[in-house]
Amino acid sequence: MSRIVYVNGRYVPYGQAAVHVEDRGFQLGDAIYEVCEVRGGRLIDEARHMARLDRSLGELRIPRPMSAPALAHVMREVIRRNRVRDGAVYLQVSRGAGPRDFYFPGPEVVPTVVCLARALSPEVPAARALSGIAVKSMPEIRWGRCDIKTVMLLPACLAKEAARKEGASEAWFVDGEGYVTEGASSNAWIVDDQGTVITKPLGTDILPGVTRATVRDVLQKEQISLVERPFLLSEAQSAREAFITSATQTVMPVIRVDGRPVGDGRPGPVATLLRQKFHQFAAISDI
Ligand code: PLP
Repeated sequence: MSRIVYVNGRYVPYGQAAVHVEDRGFQLGDAIYEVCEVRGGRLIDEARHMARLDRSLGELRIPRPMSAPALAHVMREVIRRNRVRDGAVYLQVSRGAGPRDFYFPGPEVVPTVVCLARALSPEVPAARALSGIAVKSMPEIRWGRCDIKTVMLLPACLAKEAARKEGASEAWFVDGEGYVTEGASSNAWIVDDQGTVITKPLGTDILPGVTRATVRDVLQKEQISLVERPFLLSEAQSAREAFITSATQTVMPVIRVDGRPVGDGRPGPVATLLRQKFHQFAAISDI
């Protein structure tokens, strides 16, 4: 079965899927995206992902390319045509293609819409969660609107690549004052000695993670205390537990930060519980 990609109104074979060389996403990073988990042939937290997509478009004043039901249909069609039961669906909207110019184009330039679905074995993150992952800290070098999910991911690529070279699977950005902002592609959390969960409050410096929002719901239902405040890298290294959250990894325990073990160097009970409970609290929609 060949993979099918949605590009600007057409479902095309993967090898033929293309956007224009003067697409503003390609040339200027003038594009936003979403990644939504597909699990057991269903979409996880679709409404929250679509709300964030809408917000990202609004913040950048990219016109909405189509109605919400039409976008929902495209995602489902791509998942169906690629027979993805477990994996992720990726949606990107750029401001469109036109002669390269810093100014926003006129209404004749319409947004580019691309949608791909990819099968990912659920066993891989499940196995990683049992052992936990290592993270490496990196200086925060990103821009001032990290709350918008743009495709400008070069700092994240550089950070992840540096982490991988040291055997770590995620990078944590650390600001000038020593506070962890977030992961290169995840939100960052720690658990202190009292069992209180700590994560950075939302602001322009981090992405409002959909998984983060659902984990907050789980914490509330499970009556686990949460404090939203910035935490230092040194606090993470002496925390009882640490973990990251993202749509493709849900809750992933962190067992080492810059080579130093977190807690007893094994996945902790809070991260493990949150991972187990996550899909009971996430919104699940049919395809
Ligand atoms: N922070 C950043 C920088 C990300 O790129 C991501 C996901 O890609 C997240 C946080 C987690 O967001 P979500 O839970 O919506 O996947």
